[in-house]
Amino acid sequence: MIVGEQKSIAEIKNIVSPYKKVLILGCGTCVKTCFAGGEDEVAVLASALRLAFKKDGRRIEVEEFTVERQCEDEFVQESAEAIARNESVLSLACGAGVQAIARRYEKTPVLPGVNTTFLGVLEKHGLFTEECSGCGDCQLAVFGAVCPFTRCAKKLLNGPCGGSQEGKCEVDPDTECAWSLIIYRLKLLGQLDNLRAYVPPKNWCASGACGPRKLIREDHVL
Ligand code: SF4
Ligand code: SF4
Repeated sequence: MIVGEQKSIAEIKNIVSPYKKVLILGCGTCVKTCFAGGEDEVAVLASALRLAFKKDGRRIEVEEFTVERQCEDEFVQESAEAIARNESVLSLACGAGVQAIARRYEKTPVLPGVNTTFLGVLEKHGLFTEECSGCGDCQLAVFGAVCPFTRCAKKLLNGPCGGSQEGKCEVDPDTECAWSLIIYRLKLLGQLDNLRAYVPPKNWCASGACGPRKLIREDHVL
């Protein structure tokens, strides 16, 4: 899932301050799971903003609405009336959701309320870990399903740097060395021979270095 963190109240207050009517628009999928933008977070943030502006002696109308996913038209349409009633939208979705809303409502300022952080996994309650960089050319089969491109601080694709100590990364001793994990997994799978094969440098175009990427599924295009 996409992991993000709500911006601080101070930053959000600053972003919405030019407007008198603001719709806080939540997203009920990824950011809800990481407590950044679901219905509950929308309600808490709305109350906090109302209070903060009241304290400053300013009246600002804050409306709340949450859709299932801001990155899909089907759900975005449900918010059309609420968006029309307000001067601006504070989106509590990931960056893709913010841009999806802005593209559909060109004359409405759409503001980000979340810092989109990474593609990750819910490791345990309240702990999310980064696992994938969306590189467009997944090589997890070679690496025992541990991504060195994302999880190795040096993004090494052909073995460890040699600085790992007791399975921890030399760059950050609180993080497990991705290559220790890869070797451990390959050993379990009986696939240590994978380490003999040279992994060529990444195709950075597939990773987005040649501009924004598109995925076209011809069989689903209407
Ligand atoms: S190899 Fe690419 S697609 Fe696969 S997990 Fe790593 S970053 Fe993600
Ligand atoms: S210690 Fe491991 S994870 Fe850290 S940079 Fe070296 S190989 Fe990568």
